[in-house]
Amino acid sequence: MRIAISGAGVAGTALAYWLQRTGHTPTVIERAPAFRSGGYMIDFWGVGYTVAGRMGLEEQILDKGYQIESVRSVGADGRVLAALDASVFRHLIGDDFTSLPRGDLAATIHATIAEHVEMIYGDSITAIDQDANGVRLSFSHAEPREFDLVIGADGLHSNVRRLVFGPDADFEHYLGCKVAAAVVEGYRPRDDLAYMTYAVPERQVSRVALREDRTLALFVFRDTSPDVSDPNAQLRNRFADAGWECPQLLAAALDRDRRSDDLYFDVVSQVRMNHWSRGRVLLIGDAAGCISLLGGEGTGLAITEAYILAGELQRAGGDHRRAFDAYEARLRPLIESKQSNATQLLGFFATRTRFGLWFRNIAIRAMNLRLLTNLFAGAVRDDFDLPDYGI
Ligand SMILES: Cc1cc2nc3c(=O)[nH]c(=O)nc-3n(C[C@H](O)[C@H](O)[C@H](O)COP(=O)(O)OP(=O)(O)OC[C@H]3O[C@@H](n4cnc5c(N)ncnc54)[C@H](O)[C@@H]3O)c2cc1C
Repeated sequence: MRIAISGAGVAGTALAYWLQRTGHTPTVIERAPAFRSGGYMIDFWGVGYTVAGRMGLEEQILDKGYQIESVRSVGADGRVLAALDASVFRHLIGDDFTSLPRGDLAATIHATIAEHVEMIYGDSITAIDQDANGVRLSFSHAEPREFDLVIGADGLHSNVRRLVFGPDADFEHYLGCKVAAAVVEGYRPRDDLAYMTYAVPERQVSRVALREDRTLALFVFRDTSPDVSDPNAQLRNRFADAGWECPQLLAAALDRDRRSDDLYFDVVSQVRMNHWSRGRVLLIGDAAGCISLLGGEGTGLAITEAYILAGELQRAGGDHRRAFDAYEARLRPLIESKQSNATQLLGFFATRTRFGLWFRNIAIRAMNLRLLTNLFAGAVRDDFDLPDYGI
């Protein structure tokens, strides 16, 4: 089938890979003028890691990744108040775990399809008209074209979702938090292979040293309003006087000349929908069921969804209706349980009170005790039976 995919993130590129491998002809439409690499750091593990292995990408992903050794919670004077040995996490989920920039993961997948799949950059779908025989797409720039199926893999604020299912407000659930991320050059200090984090009530800032003398700065803060206009003012307002390295990290993050990429600034939201498909159009990745950064597994889920969709299309012999239903039945319990776990972590990412922060540091220290860590195993491990489609 000719299958249009809106979005060249992790979900879109992984889907193009699996569709191409199973004999379809995918076309990826990406709004950005070129492939987006770099970006904020993600932890990558779980069922998505297994699927990446089936794509033959494990070695490359590990090469690009960082084996973080500890998470350190510091006070205003930089003293370490609590530290978590990352081996505890590995004890829970095994060695199949790494951290790497989101765009580097997407680029690793993209490299496997770049030669075989049509990629259209700097364009966006403007209309979707479907009937029993196919779908006609109109674009901002390209001429209209016919496809058999359309997959929206265009992220939290999905364009395909808006065009086919309705306004963002019907599906996006704001969690009362916003996030900013920037990769900056030449920042000091570095603390290689440590995730440094500092928190005051309702705000948290973290930094991680990257290769080539770059540092990722991550800012998370609570706000009752989901307004994302004027990020610089919002961040200055929250972090300029927050203590520790906040003034330096903020200055670096807001300085265009020191940043490797654009500043990322967005709401922390989840997407909850009753159905992920309508006719010949289906959503995957954040577009369908964003769990938010709080879940720390959105990319792994996106890759898993891509594999399952291609597998179910193969199993259904091209009957997209049957495949879409099977896809949703298989994945919905996993996504819903991940969403529920993620919302429970809000208090950890943006702790409300000083007492909460004190307790959070105690909890970080206590998590080093393996016996106690086992209690969290259910929340971290994927309770999911990954089918083998033989593809
Ligand atoms: C700060 C932060 C930290 C995170 N940490 C982790 C983590 O530790 N582990 C983890 O697994 N996940 C993490 N996540 C979540 C993870 O990044 C997402 O779940 C994942 O990237 C979703 O992939 P996606 O392909 O569905 O969407 P995206 O990555 O959002 O990709 C969507 C693509 O669609 C394109 N697009 C958008 N609109 C259009 C349009 N109109 N037309 C064409 N293209 C369009 C975009 O340019 C983009 O390339 C984090 C997220 C954030 C924000």
